[in-house]
Amino acid sequence: MNVLVKGQVFGSVKYWLYTIEWQERRLPHSHILIWLTNTLRPNQIDDIISAEIPNPSTDKNLYDIVIKNMVHGPCGAFNSLSPCLKGGNCSKIYLRQFIKETQFATDGSVVPTKEARRRRTNRNCENEI
Ligand SMILES: [Zn+2]
Repeated sequence: MNVLVKGQVFGSVKYWLYTIEWQERRLPHSHILIWLTNTLRPNQIDDIISAEIPNPSTDKNLYDIVIKNMVHGPCGAFNSLSPCLKGGNCSKIYLRQFIKETQFATDGSVVPTKEARRRRTNRNCENEI
């Protein structure tokens, strides 16, 4: 939170809050809500949020953190014993489709199945299609 708020990673912060949850396998998981001083427009979202694996050539440290801690799977045909499988299907709804940019509904909310930019790159996981 110190980096996000005082470091103004997304810009000047007006208010913030967070909560930590402990997942089934005892891993911490945070939910963070940040109100920025300046309003972001929908076309600015992809500049700060994506569901893509970082480029190891430009940020090796972040790449290593994401690969070690934030990649789901493999599951399904690649690992039939994965704990995420319920009735043979991934309960976390992976594999997710690639999208060039985050898509919004007419009310400004994010389309749930297309929640963050996730472009096809040469850094995608082996079980992605
Ligand atoms: Zn899964």
